[in-house]
Amino acid sequence: MLSKLEKLNQEIISCRKCPRLVEWGEEVARVKRKAYMDEEYWGKPVPGFGDPGARVLVVGLAPGAHGSNRTGRQFTGDASGGFLFPALHRAGFANQPSAESRSDGLVLKDMYITASGRCAPPMNKPTSEELNNCQPYLERELEILKPKVIVCLGKIGFDRIRKIFSVRGSDVKFGHGATCKLDNGIWLMSSYHPSQQNTLTGKLTVEMFDNIWEKAKELLK
Ligand code: SF4
Repeated sequence: MLSKLEKLNQEIISCRKCPRLVEWGEEVARVKRKAYMDEEYWGKPVPGFGDPGARVLVVGLAPGAHGSNRTGRQFTGDASGGFLFPALHRAGFANQPSAESRSDGLVLKDMYITASGRCAPPMNKPTSEELNNCQPYLERELEILKPKVIVCLGKIGFDRIRKIFSVRGSDVKFGHGATCKLDNGIWLMSSYHPSQQNTLTGKLTVEMFDNIWEKAKELLK
């Protein structure tokens, strides 16, 4: 019998609530990038993945056109994942530092990775309507997993979590390493997104990113 998480993921994969994103994802999958011409793109909404007993939930933005829209797994096969997974491996949340395909043997421990939007958006920018359409999936993941710590990679994921939990007040702000305990007892952490825009410019360094995962581990104690 399928678990609640598996059922949810099947629903996500067959979702077509946002016509603009469905068309774009399918178009990218058809045209492909030269370097991946021989590959079959996923070209569908990308579900979350990881340890079903995870206490840490990581919330990203949305699939990259030639990253997870190609591979079908969050942060897999792109530069952001190339920065994320080595850090998770160093921190003990991942069994290996690389993530290239759904069958690469990657296993997450005590961590589940999801996103605010499950379909690749043109220019990496989902509209608020599209994020609202996708929000119930994130709400259901939160209900099922009941995480102790949420790490938001980027402000879009952070704002979505604030919205879901109706967090008000200026003391809960996005900032790299900013951490607060919500009224429901969940620790909310924010981090700069590991996109090349941040990692190649030095806005997010390896050390800064490692500190996030060390802090997350501290909060689990
Ligand atoms: S972004 Fe979310 S709600 Fe919109 S089509 Fe994709 S999975 Fe469905």
